[in-house]
Amino acid sequence: MKALISVDYTNDFVADDGHLTAGKPAQAIEQSIYNLTKQFIERGDMVFFTIDLHDLNDNFHPESKLFPPHNLRGTSGRELYGKLDSYYQKIKDLSNVLWLDKRHYSAFSGTDLDIRLRERGITNLTICGVLTDICVLHTAIDAYNLGYQITISKSAVASLSEEAKIFALNHFKSVLGAKVID
Ligand code: ZN
Repeated sequence: MKALISVDYTNDFVADDGHLTAGKPAQAIEQSIYNLTKQFIERGDMVFFTIDLHDLNDNFHPESKLFPPHNLRGTSGRELYGKLDSYYQKIKDLSNVLWLDKRHYSAFSGTDLDIRLRERGITNLTICGVLTDICVLHTAIDAYNLGYQITISKSAVASLSEEAKIFALNHFKSVLGAKVID
């Protein structure tokens, strides 16, 4: 069994009116991320939606000094964006779909993702979502340190700038030993 780690493809990071949006580059991967998710579901592999969760006025959180409030609890900003949200509504009760809230960039930080993967004997992860050079990268670094094999689908990740995306894709390949595919 393999797993897809789907990172932060929510309204706040993707929609035009999102609170920390990557905008067009993130919207451009909508079809790819949907296709990839469908592929994993139909093969019976695991899909983990690992999604930022913040509380307003959480002044102890380091991100409160770095970014405007985003993905706040109970807001539509932390719902999945577009096609991925409609698809999630259909598959969310399946046993191979899990939603994990996270507070930090990495999907492993403060979550039980590693335990959930080990329970299932999963060693091979595909990571998709936004932003390539922030949450996807930090998730990939933790996955590398925990000994997972990593695949990144180029067409299912997005950054604010092309430059940032190229940096991260190179890092996945040459530093984390990831397989970078189309
Ligand atoms: Zn955040």
